[in-house]
Amino acid sequence: MGRRKRKVIKVFKRKLPKILACPKCGNISLIVDRVSDDVVNIKCGTCHLFYPYSAPKEKEYIDTYNEFVDKINRGEIQI
Ligand SMILES: [Zn+2]
Repeated sequence: MGRRKRKVIKVFKRKLPKILACPKCGNISLIVDRVSDDVVNIKCGTCHLFYPYSAPKEKEYIDTYNEFVDKINRGEIQI
């Protein structure tokens, strides 16, 4: 019989870190921070980009991010 290993309690976070590439400075330091059911703050820890963005709570942060970057690329958002 094998020895019983003490059960290791894994802290398994389901949430992935929401750290993304910043479209302004290019660093991986952008976060999408939900502040209410329909607003997120898009913030960069490096260049201090701060942009409140409206997004329904059903929307994945990554989709919000992609949309945000798209709008910047199209010139709809100035950062
Ligand atoms: Zn930045």
